[in-house]
Amino acid sequence: MIPFTYARAADAEDALRRGAVAGARYLGGGTNLVDLLRETIERPGTLVDVTGLPGTIEETADGGLLIGAAARNTAVAEHRAVRTRYLVLARAIVAGASAAAAAVPARAAVPAAPDATPPPPPRHPDRPQDPR
Ligand SMILES: Cc1cc2nc3c(=O)[nH]c(=O)nc-3n(C[C@H](O)[C@H](O)[C@H](O)COP(=O)(O)OP(=O)(O)OC[C@H]3O[C@@H](n4cnc5c(N)ncnc54)[C@H](O)[C@@H]3O)c2cc1C
Repeated sequence: MIPFTYARAADAEDALRRGAVAGARYLGGGTNLVDLLRETIERPGTLVDVTGLPGTIEETADGGLLIGAAARNTAVAEHRAVRTRYLVLARAIVAGASAAAAAVPARAAVPAAPDATPPPPPRHPDRPQDPR
């Protein structure tokens, strides 16, 4: 067993400070990192849990989006602004979701909304495999 310390970040500033320490790793949903810990591929000295940070998605005055560190992929893919202005992002998240991902508990930061965005119709109806 490899010992490490665990710290829950109080806010973004705290997360940055703790994450700057040599050997520190951020812990999100843990779906990827915990596997790497089990296999001893990752050997962090400290895990900085960022799941308590804001998961909000805000539209900024300059037309951009501010996506919180704890925002779940599903929430991003389903957000109205993402679906209307950043459709490629919504589609990339949904396309990355494997059947296994749908079985991961809702807490995991994995996409699990296979029906969030229907595929576009083919440009040429007589050639349904038309590449884009
Ligand atoms: C059963 C299963 C199915 C999966 N299916 C898919 C899939 O279909 N598509 C896919 O893309 N992935 C898939 N994954 C991989 C994994 O779940 C994703 O990559 C997921 O997005 C990891 O998010 P997490 O929050 O769990 O990250 P974690 O495992 O907590 O962390 C992963 C890495 O990101 C860093 N990190 C975490 N949060 C932050 C943050 N806020 N800021 C900076 N760095 C951070 C960590 O330090 C670590 O290095 C799957 C995993 C499992 C177990």
